[in-house]
Amino acid sequence: MNTFQDLGLNDLLLNAISDLGFKTPSEVQDKAIPILLENDGDLVALAQTGTGKTAAFGFPMLQKINIDSRTTQGLILSPTRELCLQITNELKNYGKYYKGLNVTAIYGGASITEQAKQVKQGTQIIVATPGRMKDMISRRLVDISKIEYAVLDEADEMLNMGFYEDITDILSHTPEDKSTWLFSATMPKEVATIAKKFMTNPTEITVGTKNVGSDQVSHEYYLVNSRDRYLALKRLADANPDIFSVIFCRTKRDTQKVAEKLIEDGYSAGALHGDLSQNQRDLVMKSFRNKQIQMLVATDVAARGIDVDDITHVINYQLPDEIETYTHRSGRTGRAGKTGVSMVIVSKSEVRKIKSIERIIKKNFENKNIPDGMEICEVQLMSLANKVHNTEVNHEIDSYLESINTLFEDTSKDELIKKFFSVEFTRFFNYYQKSKDLNIEATNSSERDGGSLKDVDDTRYFINVGRKDGYDWMTLKDFLKEQLDLGRDDVFKVDVKESFSFFNTEKSLTEKVIAYFTDFKHNGRFVNVEVSENRGGGRGRDRGRRSGGRRDDRRSRRSDDRRNDDNSNRRSRRSDSGNRGEKRSSDKSKRSNSDFKSGGKSGSSRPRRSRR
Ligand code: ADP
Ligand code: MG
Repeated sequence: MNTFQDLGLNDLLLNAISDLGFKTPSEVQDKAIPILLENDGDLVALAQTGTGKTAAFGFPMLQKINIDSRTTQGLILSPTRELCLQITNELKNYGKYYKGLNVTAIYGGASITEQAKQVKQGTQIIVATPGRMKDMISRRLVDISKIEYAVLDEADEMLNMGFYEDITDILSHTPEDKSTWLFSATMPKEVATIAKKFMTNPTEITVGTKNVGSDQVSHEYYLVNSRDRYLALKRLADANPDIFSVIFCRTKRDTQKVAEKLIEDGYSAGALHGDLSQNQRDLVMKSFRNKQIQMLVATDVAARGIDVDDITHVINYQLPDEIETYTHRSGRTGRAGKTGVSMVIVSKSEVRKIKSIERIIKKNFENKNIPDGMEICEVQLMSLANKVHNTEVNHEIDSYLESINTLFEDTSKDELIKKFFSVEFTRFFNYYQKSKDLNIEATNSSERDGGSLKDVDDTRYFINVGRKDGYDWMTLKDFLKEQLDLGRDDVFKVDVKESFSFFNTEKSLTEKVIAYFTDFKHNGRFVNVEVSENRGGGRGRDRGRRSGGRRDDRRSRRSDDRRNDDNSNRRSRRSDSGNRGEKRSSDKSKRSNSDFKSGGKSGSSRPRRSRR
């Protein structure tokens, strides 16, 4: 195996590498660095996330640029602000022994004047997001006409995010004869196209089998009803008191919702998605890196490529639409030789996707049960006991000891221990003692075999709106989700015809759906939903629409009823979080819960909070 010396890197870099603690080059570094150092040609490198791509282009770029010149010679485009900052930071670390090195991050949401000022001071390398870069170019705040090296990092994601035109535009301001290095986790058609368009005879390297997950990560799935997703998430968190995790949701809205609920329920959680301001995102990332936040709830785009060490669990709150995305998600854990777990909470309608993922990542999932309440209580109790056991005594307490001793004069050691642990145990016990089993069975083995899920537990509905009302399957699904306050996976098999449509939910939701759409009017017309005999996708007859305009008075009364129902629902949901109490009084329990989780300062092997 090659060492970093063997790759031809200079001493400045080798010293920094040794400071960073990198022992041997990763595979993509081993393959890319010698090529980039020796040639001036173009390169396409495919390697999954977490394989060390930043150094694979960063080291050669640093070695090749002229540090004595203040001209901008290297341009790195990356999809998100977070990645842009992360790469900038890494490059500064790699180049710490280069005197006079300037690396500038250019990204949206921060002061453009400030960034322009930095550029003006003379920067050899710019790391940028495409949007802001284009902006800077058009305002002539930056000159990239003398670029020698252009890197397209996470090219697949940039294209996913619709940056194709921005990239084209930016590159048109760079010299023809520069070297272009493209790094990507996957090679969809679009990336191949861009490689063809912007590169000449690129050398291609592929690392590992494409899209094979890290060996350090084990994969688990938990089968629950869609409506129990959140409860399942809470249990998974409670069953892993030292969890430090990223929780992936599919939409910004779900991301925000799940994070808010977790916080309300006393967990140390934060949301990361594109609707937050730059400041909010920076803040949440900082708290997460400092481990002040145990659970980062994120969208795929916002969390793409983010490199935080020691993530113990990746939780797929929902499966991603694209199977490839799953690889990126699970790659957040099991980094740098550590092990990690990627958990998927799935509903019946999605369970067959697990098979497809298994085929692609070439690893098997373990079907596990959501732990029951008593199991969680035991885990929490033992975790606390261990923390107490490992806690170093803080002698500041000594002066209070006398009064405490007086208070416990008549308490035996046994009793004292019981009381002490009851403080926390009882909270969990009360919450979990009447908790139900969240696990459900896959109805028959054909589900696991990827066979048809023919709707054993689904209800199919007919609804009298269709294409001519302006719906397609996505917008109708959104409409139903929104109206019924359901999760993304609760409505499926949406099949939109010209004047009517079909959709499915789990059987357990039938009553709710039918009740909701009884005498329901939308945009001035009655929307009618009925259970369909047609079990899935086949042809149904057009039952036409109900004429509008009737019973408007009843309609409005019912919608009031419904609002009340919603409230009582919400109330019961909140009391479902048991001892964590009503929202208003939750502050106190919030604190005590995080105290519970934070552990002693020197106690746990990985103290959760490093607040000083
Ligand atoms: P990618 O861009 O492929 O997702 P990164 O460049 O972000 O991966 O690297 C992932 C992590 O691995 C970073 O924390 C980085 O510092 C670390 N790393 C990179 N190269 C090495 C190496 N040769 N040895 C040890 N750690 C490395
Ligand atoms: Mg990267």
